[in-house]
Amino acid sequence: MTKEMNLQKIEKKIQMACRTSKRKATDIKLIAVTKTIDALEMEELYQLGLRDFGENRTDSFLAKTAFLAAKKDITWHFIGTLQTRKVKDILTKIDYLHSLDRLSLAKEIEKRATTKIKCFLEINISGEEKKHGFTKEAAIQFVKTFSFQHIEIVGLMAMAPFTQDQKELHQVFRDLKQVQLEIEALKLPHVPCHELSMGMTNDYPIAIEEGATSIRIGRALVND
Ligand SMILES: *Cc1c(COP(=O)(O)O)cnc(C)c1O
Repeated sequence: MTKEMNLQKIEKKIQMACRTSKRKATDIKLIAVTKTIDALEMEELYQLGLRDFGENRTDSFLAKTAFLAAKKDITWHFIGTLQTRKVKDILTKIDYLHSLDRLSLAKEIEKRATTKIKCFLEINISGEEKKHGFTKEAAIQFVKTFSFQHIEIVGLMAMAPFTQDQKELHQVFRDLKQVQLEIEALKLPHVPCHELSMGMTNDYPIAIEEGATSIRIGRALVND
């Protein structure tokens, strides 16, 4: 299928999930995850109207932001694990960091940033050992002791386990939503925490039903 047909199919599924959950499709931000395609193919997505792009590696992030630099209306999302020593290379080019997953990374961002960086706290919601991110308890501890001037916690991000078990997926996303509401209710400075970045090709309709505000879609969009 063409990317255009992929996009139409995704938009239809977003609308269906919104109808089920009585939400507005305009409240869902579709982030095109472009880690498996090159910058020329990204231009196709741009021509289809997409403006939010997500990359998970610093080298390809830098190459693609450079290649598409003339397109000023692109919003760039960094969604992968960010090595501390790479922060200085990409910080000024990131619009949203979805993967703030440890205190040492926050400290490095604070040290290097000159403007406020919008970040999602990554939560290891399913407790899987190989997954990155804060536990729920650590995240709450982190925001309560938060003292960074150059970081804004716009929301929470998580990756669901790779499973077809719909009930389990609903539960994982519902758990993340609960943590988001809990942190939002603290009304802490620099921690609005209104957003939820959750849902990928395997599970985005469920994530939307459970409150996702950003979904990160790769395969469903870019695969032929
Ligand atoms: C690759 C990736 C995605 C997109 O995954 P798909 O299953 O291809 O939709 C989303 N988020 C992160 C962090 C990723 O690395």
